[in-house]
Amino acid sequence: MKIVLQNLTKRFPNRNKSVREDVIAVNNFNFEIPDGKLIGLLGPSGCGKSTALNLLCGLLKPTTGKIFFGDDDVTGVPAEKRGVGFVFQNYALYPHLTVHENILFPLQNFKGKDKLSKEEMLRRAKEAAELVQISSLMERKPSELSGGQQQRVAIARALVKMPRILLLDEPLSNLDARLRLQTREEIRRIQRETKITTVFVTHDQDEAMSISDEIVVMKDGVVQQIGQPQYVYDHPANLFVAKFLGTPPINVFDGYVKGGRLFIGSENVMAAGCPDQNVSVGIRPEGFTLDKNGSITCRLSGVEVMGRDITVVSANSACEAASVRSIISAENLAAINGDTVRFSLKPDKVFLFNKETGAVIGCELN
Ligand code: ADP
Ligand code: MG
Repeated sequence: MKIVLQNLTKRFPNRNKSVREDVIAVNNFNFEIPDGKLIGLLGPSGCGKSTALNLLCGLLKPTTGKIFFGDDDVTGVPAEKRGVGFVFQNYALYPHLTVHENILFPLQNFKGKDKLSKEEMLRRAKEAAELVQISSLMERKPSELSGGQQQRVAIARALVKMPRILLLDEPLSNLDARLRLQTREEIRRIQRETKITTVFVTHDQDEAMSISDEIVVMKDGVVQQIGQPQYVYDHPANLFVAKFLGTPPINVFDGYVKGGRLFIGSENVMAAGCPDQNVSVGIRPEGFTLDKNGSITCRLSGVEVMGRDITVVSANSACEAASVRSIISAENLAAINGDTVRFSLKPDKVFLFNKETGAVIGCELN
């Protein structure tokens, strides 16, 4: 089931009484979520992700705009009639019910023509439990499960209704690092098997990038960019998106273009096919190559060995942050010595941004 958001806006009165303006938690969303895909809604805390999900599931009414599931306008349809499965960060299982009873619970609420036979309910609960691999835990209470198992129960409970759409709000936040990895792979597998159109909310770029068919990057209620994770990483629309994606984060320098050359600090680093202007220069950590004749010079602060790669930590007065982090192959370790390091730059890992607006500048670099 595809989802279409049309001029979707949600305003809240500001909680801070001294501020007159409303908070615009979701600001004029216009995009389509294709049928059967997993979309990652990504942005820092407070950017409006949960509000967007709550609008989709019907727990909140939009201030303006419309929501369509397929061709149906569901904007005025109450939450329980939307056919949406919702999984929250804190699982929200019923503590006094067993796993089996928790999964059955939503089906027992079906009324009238939707009412299911006992056999059908049991069959569906069994199927959902198998899908998330908790069949052996059916008689336990939530308190007797690990966080990862509880989250699987929550997913089974959302799936048992055979929702048209699955919404997950930071479902992995309460899990430890290893379980997060495992559970996110599970979610991906379940989504592929069921082909339910899924919206997955997270503030963790790594998580969103790894499981999403497409990501929607948000800031202050405004969509910044939509696209396949690799595309957005390789073609950030603005400095915010460039900084939000990637670990270690992109390095940002003060620079300028003059006479067809890009300068960082006073160093002439590469050819730039755009008009003279001051720019912010973003360089991905993997965009540096150790080169004793390289065009950019940094003071060496240290080296972090990570096995396959090493991170060279250095300083450059044009850099916006205290350290420049560059990732190079561990084979080059021996070549790093002395007080300075020089790098040449990979042009496709270098991005220029407008100093005032942060928008990316179309500029041929080489
Ligand atoms: P996220 O899920 O990305 O962390 P939210 O959607 O929860 O962000 O919140 C977005 C913004 O809307 C925040 O500034 C938040 O304080 C505000 N907000 C959310 N819910 C309400 C509400 N019920 N009343 C007033 N402001 C709200
Ligand atoms: Mg939230």
